[in-house]
Amino acid sequence: MSNGPAPLDDAAERQMRFLFALRSHGVTDARVLGAMERIDRGAFVRGLFADRAYEDMPLPIACGQTISQPSVVGLMTQALEVQPRDMVLEVGTGSGYQAAILSLLARRVYTVDRHRRLVREAQDVFHVLGLVNITALHVDGSFGLPDQAPFDKILVTAAAEDPPGPLLAQLKIGGIMVVPVGQSDAVQSLIKVTRHSRGFEYDELRPVRFVPLVEGLGSE
Ligand code: SAH
Repeated sequence: MSNGPAPLDDAAERQMRFLFALRSHGVTDARVLGAMERIDRGAFVRGLFADRAYEDMPLPIACGQTISQPSVVGLMTQALEVQPRDMVLEVGTGSGYQAAILSLLARRVYTVDRHRRLVREAQDVFHVLGLVNITALHVDGSFGLPDQAPFDKILVTAAAEDPPGPLLAQLKIGGIMVVPVGQSDAVQSLIKVTRHSRGFEYDELRPVRFVPLVEGLGSE
């Protein structure tokens, strides 16, 4: 009989590897790691790629879009410095994974997507997971959500050629926006924008690759 440590089951080992990959990419904030430990990425990936949900890679979802790489989700969430009282806007619901993580850290999350199907499917997962502080809407997020503005934090998960003006205008003073900036067919830069009373400060965080921010509503 062995008296070594009890063997980990598959799920626990998978979870350990997942968290290790996040830490080794620089996701060190305890609240962010805690939220990512609690939200099961497997709930947001369907079909052929479901068994790869715990790998640190982007994966295809419906409507030709992608669920981001977990380490990039972690770094973006960390850069946003989300506080428990924050009102957050996410542009680009996609699978809903990023919004679910934000919902554990913030007071309320508005998430919008130009594809109705993605909004509906994400709403179903939020419901199953009991995430009641997320409002998912089918709108063109390049204009933000003027009726709910201003926001403490704005996260854009699609690449824009410049930080969109309407989104900058909907950020509170002291607020932070994180947005990938650059052409959609090239490597983009992840930018952190902080709004001060006298203007905006821009910090370049790292190279990333996102699907483009597209104006207008999608066909499905
Ligand atoms: N955050 C997502 C991944 C987003 S992929 C996740 O956690 O899974 C980028 C998403 O941005 C796509 O779903 C795309 O439909 C959406 N998008 C692109 N342009 C948009 C726009 N103008 N308004 C709203 N959503 C947009």
